[in-house]
Amino acid sequence: MHEVKTPKKPLIFYYIIVLLIMMLLNFLFVPWMSKRQIIETDYSTFISMTESQDVGQVEIQAQENQILFTNKDGTVIYKTGMVNDPDLTQRLYDSGAKFSGEIIEQASPIVSFLVTWILPIAIFIALGQYLSRKMMQNAGGPNSMMFGMGKSSAKVYVQSTEGIRFADVAGEDEAKENLTEIVEYLHNPEKYKEIGASMPKGILLVGPPGTGKTMLAKAVAGESSVPFFSISGSEFVEMFVGMGASKVRDLFKQAKEKAPCIVFIDEIDAVGEKRGGKLGGNDEREQTLNQLLTEMDGFEGNNGVVILAATNRPDSLDPALLRPGRFDRRVPVELPDLKGREEILRVHAKKVKIADNIDFGKIARMASGASGAELANIVNEAALRAVRDGRAFVQQADLEESIEVVIAGYQRKNAILTDEEKHIVSYHEIGHALVAAKQSHSAPVQKITIVPRTSGALGYTMQVDDGDHNLMNKTELENKIATLTGGRAAEEVVFGSVTTGASNDIEQATKIARAMITQYGMSDGFDMVALETISNQYLGGDASLACSPETQTAIDKQVVALVKQQHAKAVQILTENRDKLDELAKYLYEKETITGEEFMNILEGGEEK
Ligand code: ADP
Repeated sequence: MHEVKTPKKPLIFYYIIVLLIMMLLNFLFVPWMSKRQIIETDYSTFISMTESQDVGQVEIQAQENQILFTNKDGTVIYKTGMVNDPDLTQRLYDSGAKFSGEIIEQASPIVSFLVTWILPIAIFIALGQYLSRKMMQNAGGPNSMMFGMGKSSAKVYVQSTEGIRFADVAGEDEAKENLTEIVEYLHNPEKYKEIGASMPKGILLVGPPGTGKTMLAKAVAGESSVPFFSISGSEFVEMFVGMGASKVRDLFKQAKEKAPCIVFIDEIDAVGEKRGGKLGGNDEREQTLNQLLTEMDGFEGNNGVVILAATNRPDSLDPALLRPGRFDRRVPVELPDLKGREEILRVHAKKVKIADNIDFGKIARMASGASGAELANIVNEAALRAVRDGRAFVQQADLEESIEVVIAGYQRKNAILTDEEKHIVSYHEIGHALVAAKQSHSAPVQKITIVPRTSGALGYTMQVDDGDHNLMNKTELENKIATLTGGRAAEEVVFGSVTTGASNDIEQATKIARAMITQYGMSDGFDMVALETISNQYLGGDASLACSPETQTAIDKQVVALVKQQHAKAVQILTENRDKLDELAKYLYEKETITGEEFMNILEGGEEK
């Protein structure tokens, strides 16, 4: 899409130009004028220069009683007094000097005065005139208080041949279906008017970051070939009270002029946050929000302006903004499922040169939980890796490695583990994998590695689910906790001591155990009571407890009991399979990275490769 608005140049830009011109005049022009300064010399030098044929031009100024002459290449001008010397003319003639009327076009003091003083002043006056005229133009509207302020800085895009289309947004079928209606309306508003139906004025796209909300909004504009205004919510929030409101007015005025069109407000939570409640509320933001509410109410339905807004904090929005008649439709744009991830990978893979035999399904399974933006990044990382390795196209291994880079950071090539540490890490990782494999419901192991990563991980076990899991039962969750404790359990079983390497496992295991008790109703005795509320669902989800202190104590006890129980189970599994644990850990220690297949071969007693 093209951006059609030419950006306004800041005032400082003009001042810099003037300063440059002045410097140019002073450093180049003025010295040039006075470059050929006149050097006063005595008559004997003049005679000797004449004899050595060093004189270029001569001008005899009888009136001033002086002679001006230049050297051979005319770069220096000399001046000397006149002496009664009748042979002079002949000698000069013999030496090849040229007689000239005026060798020196001396820069008159008037010219240099003009250049150094009058010209800059003239430039300043011209600039001042120009700026004040611009100011008058800008201040023409009733909305603007000062030069350029209070104008919306929305970027206007128009549809172009390479505009984003629905086909570019992979997955997100439900969202696309929902928005197709808008496209249809923008194409043919009459059809809707006839029956008396009015389009929703505002559509709120909600979902986690990087799921394609902005892309979807652009695609709606692209599909319906109408102007597209894009502005971020934070751009409304100004330092001066009233400025943001004026920007909102201006934006809607522009939009109505260009109707049918789409206005897209990204991160609307920056202006749309709930009002009041806070001490020393933000006047400017509240005014801006009020203006937005008024504008959305004010323009009658079916006038062809459709407002799309995106946010990942829908629960923080002011209820007035969400009522019917304003943002009355909410389109969820969720993280892509397995099929969606595969489609997104394919869309982005088209932009790079890629081998034919890529298993996109496998990559999509490995990247479980990744957003569209992360998947785009994975493909790009893979392409970068291919270039680094001097290959002309991307291979499966590039994509797999780039997923690991996204999950765990780059390989730390120069991190040196002591032999003992390497042993411990091998056992730790095999501990996770073995516990996972021995519990029937756990996902199979994809890869185990003990190559340190920049994220600080000394090794990791990658598990890949077969498909999407929308529901998990209690046993699966318990098994997950057991798998997480497997690393520490292996250290205990083999070395009888523990290390600091399990901190991340502990954190995750506790999180699952706590959620089971407080959110999923899988506790002992709390039945189906919600003990925790989740806010900010799309940004990681902050949980806050909503229960009495006694209940909190009871929850803590249950969490500890649950984790302990699963930890004991992991220790038991590993003790029962001690010989396999040793064999696998030795194998991993030697190879540093092993695949799920190699792991299963050894585990099932297959021959060692
Ligand atoms: P959001 O506005 O939801 O934070 P964006 O729309 O800005 O996310 O998406 C960021 C980038 O991620 C896009 O430029 C695109 O490359 C990629 N992306 C996200 N979702 C998708 C998708 N569904 N299909 C294709 N690419 C996507």
